[in-house]
Amino acid sequence: MKVKVLGSAGSYQSPTRQCSSYLAVTGETAILLDVGNGSFGNLLKMHDPFDIRCIFLSHRHHDHIADIVSLYHFLKFVPNDLGKRRKIPVFASKATHDFLANYVAVSIFDIFEKRVVSAGESQIIEGNSLSFGAVNHIDGSLSLTITDGSGERLVYSGDSAYSNELATSIAEGSTLLTESTYLEHKGGDGGLIHMDAHDVARLCNDAEVKGVIISHVAYPNDPEVVGMLVRDEFSGFVEVANDLDVYEIVSGKLCKVSHRIEEGY
Ligand SMILES: [Zn+2]
Ligand SMILES: [Zn+2]
Repeated sequence: MKVKVLGSAGSYQSPTRQCSSYLAVTGETAILLDVGNGSFGNLLKMHDPFDIRCIFLSHRHHDHIADIVSLYHFLKFVPNDLGKRRKIPVFASKATHDFLANYVAVSIFDIFEKRVVSAGESQIIEGNSLSFGAVNHIDGSLSLTITDGSGERLVYSGDSAYSNELATSIAEGSTLLTESTYLEHKGGDGGLIHMDAHDVARLCNDAEVKGVIISHVAYPNDPEVVGMLVRDEFSGFVEVANDLDVYEIVSGKLCKVSHRIEEGY
């Protein structure tokens, strides 16, 4: 399974990063995880939007959904789809879908297919299992666990505070894609809806994950410092996401494949 980083900024863009968006690619199947503001341009650099098989929206905050509008207009109006145009399922909670219904002036569900899901539910997409879980953020926030046909497992937490519930919902040996909005809370939101580096390390240890990709670090916090702090407390594979990075999970081992723009997209 490959993970392409389309946006690694937290809450708002930084000078060099767009907001949360990732592509999980298993074989020929591309699953888009969130579509934060600014990420659509990076998608065009890394993948054909017409090849996206489904979309998961973790919650309704701007930095996770805004560029679904750009993606919608691209899919609707670009003529050279090479016959690949089809409705793309959008998996999200009822709260997120209710918000989306009024987010743009026109319904986007002539291009997308509305799929309301709840924590505890699963879907199968082309041999991949997608399981949705509860996280501590705003109402209707969900995590997503993708298990591909060869058993590689990626857990995307979206935005979340640390919780025992989250830790116990993550299967041992998974690779975690998660947020560390802060280096340390220092008052911040008090850890109620976001994590800091210590929370991420605690989550990794408690869930016994094999590796973690850290993203959604809010500027001007330095993502590399977050990575160092997590490595101090967690001995698994630790990677710090940058826009346009490509990672691969092979036998549970997390490797960085490339941080360059791929040819073609
Ligand atoms: Zn966010
Ligand atoms: Zn959020």
